[in-house]
Amino acid sequence: MSAPASNGGHDAWLDALADGEGYALVCPDGHGSLPPRRVCPECGTDSLTEEPLAETGTVETRSVVHVAGPRFAADTPYVTAIADFGPVRLTGIVRGIDPEADAVAVGDRLTATVEEREGDGDPLVAFRPADDE
Ligand SMILES: [Zn+2]
Repeated sequence: MSAPASNGGHDAWLDALADGEGYALVCPDGHGSLPPRRVCPECGTDSLTEEPLAETGTVETRSVVHVAGPRFAADTPYVTAIADFGPVRLTGIVRGIDPEADAVAVGDRLTATVEEREGDGDPLVAFRPADDE
């Protein structure tokens, strides 16, 4: 279930993720990375294929951010998380939860989508609890 990597860049990747078609670039050794990449960051091969992300990811680390730089100030407080989505880990903001509570725990399952940043409307990777619906 893999296709030649189109390497459309990060914006194209965000579009795919927003459409529920998020993918990772995977080399023959199984190293995962995210666009834009032309070579595997682990082993240097340029033989990359697109593999779909897992439907849900597992939280590996998370932290609550109370003070952020100007681009994220309007979003504070928020929870950032790194979640394992199969071939790759994604970093994003967890939404649909109370950021002041300890609402996200290591091992929780999240879905990934693309939402707008509060401050300037730029797209960002957003996670939602997988059992939200
Ligand atoms: Zn590799």
